[in-house]
Amino acid sequence: MNKISSRMAAVLPSASSAASARARELKAAGRDIINLSVGEPDFDTPEHVIRAASEAMSAGKTRYTNVDGTPELKAAVIRKFKDENGLDFAANQIVVGTGAKQVIFNVLLATLDAGDEVIIPAPHWVSYPDMVRIAEGTPVVVECRAEDGFKLSAATLKAAITEKTRWLVINSPCNPTGAVYGEADLRALADVLLEHPQVGILSDDIYEHVVFGETSFHSIAAVEPRLLERTVAVNGVSKAYCMTGWRLGYGGGPAEVMREVRKLQSQSTSCASSISQAGALAALEGPQDHLESHRAVYRRRRDLVLPKLVEAGLTCEAPEGAFYILAGCHDFLGKTSAAGTKIEDDADFTRVILEEGEVAMVPGTAFGAPGYVRLSFAVDDARLMEAASRIAKICSALRA
Ligand code: PMP
Repeated sequence: MNKISSRMAAVLPSASSAASARARELKAAGRDIINLSVGEPDFDTPEHVIRAASEAMSAGKTRYTNVDGTPELKAAVIRKFKDENGLDFAANQIVVGTGAKQVIFNVLLATLDAGDEVIIPAPHWVSYPDMVRIAEGTPVVVECRAEDGFKLSAATLKAAITEKTRWLVINSPCNPTGAVYGEADLRALADVLLEHPQVGILSDDIYEHVVFGETSFHSIAAVEPRLLERTVAVNGVSKAYCMTGWRLGYGGGPAEVMREVRKLQSQSTSCASSISQAGALAALEGPQDHLESHRAVYRRRRDLVLPKLVEAGLTCEAPEGAFYILAGCHDFLGKTSAAGTKIEDDADFTRVILEEGEVAMVPGTAFGAPGYVRLSFAVDDARLMEAASRIAKICSALRA
């Protein structure tokens, strides 16, 4: 009774969900916690998107849709990929799913056999290795150095590829480092990939619109069109349109792969929410001016908080995209907090900042970045600055 599969035994719960849950728990207990652990915009969904979804409900668009999305939304996704990313997909190459997360999960489940390897440049989004493990593949986590801007180099990629490599994950802008791969970076990776036709590319482009201008966004198959036939580009409305709770993402990729993803959805979720699909259609087709204003706000917050963290003794560089800072807490390892907690690793440091400083962050170990913590600056300016002061106060006590 209640036996758990061996498949699940190797899987960890999402560390960012766990950190948010602990922050909520303390909040519910009356503590004034500032939560910098969440991975979502603090802006509301644009009003016209909400209106479109509401109208869709009133118009009776409340039933199952096609497994891979409504024809209207798929057409909008095709246009988006073409106009914004320079990627050409036909309708049978597109699947709309319940978040980019589900699309990535389904692609891995549909394509991996036991022993197949997936190269995951670290620091990486928490979910990739566990998703690979659930699909019974082998995550090959390769470290990217801070000196290289946390970006995968051609040489490191080359060394990591084996006969068994099935996918390379590229996530630019990257959660948690904020690294953005420029055209030249992708060109160098593409040259290696052209020599290894068995390797597919899973391009997680979910933060494409959150770039701060130093390096502009490119998807690898647009830089090297010969890679398009083995690239799955994944995207969604969560980050760009502030729609994380709507659970709506999509992917474009090889027809044979996407056919299996569609089959998987037909046996699991049937389709993404019809209402969210109507909202996503309005998001993709409607006004886009909020993208620039949100970008400016994120950039301002980044520039506000970064110097405070550096001053506090954390090691960090300005992220070029996304809304996270990956901060090194190396200088605090081995110290003991005011309440007597010995800080051995990033998890202890995160715990001390939460329990004694009332700021929630996520330990870097979950991102393949031990010795670091990830904090989100998608929080209003005043709370963000208050959080920075609280962190600085704890850090200064630790250093004393
Ligand atoms: N990829 C990355 C890198 C992310 O950070 C996230 C959200 N945390 C996702 C994918 C999933 O996004 P969605 O809400 O579309 O499932």
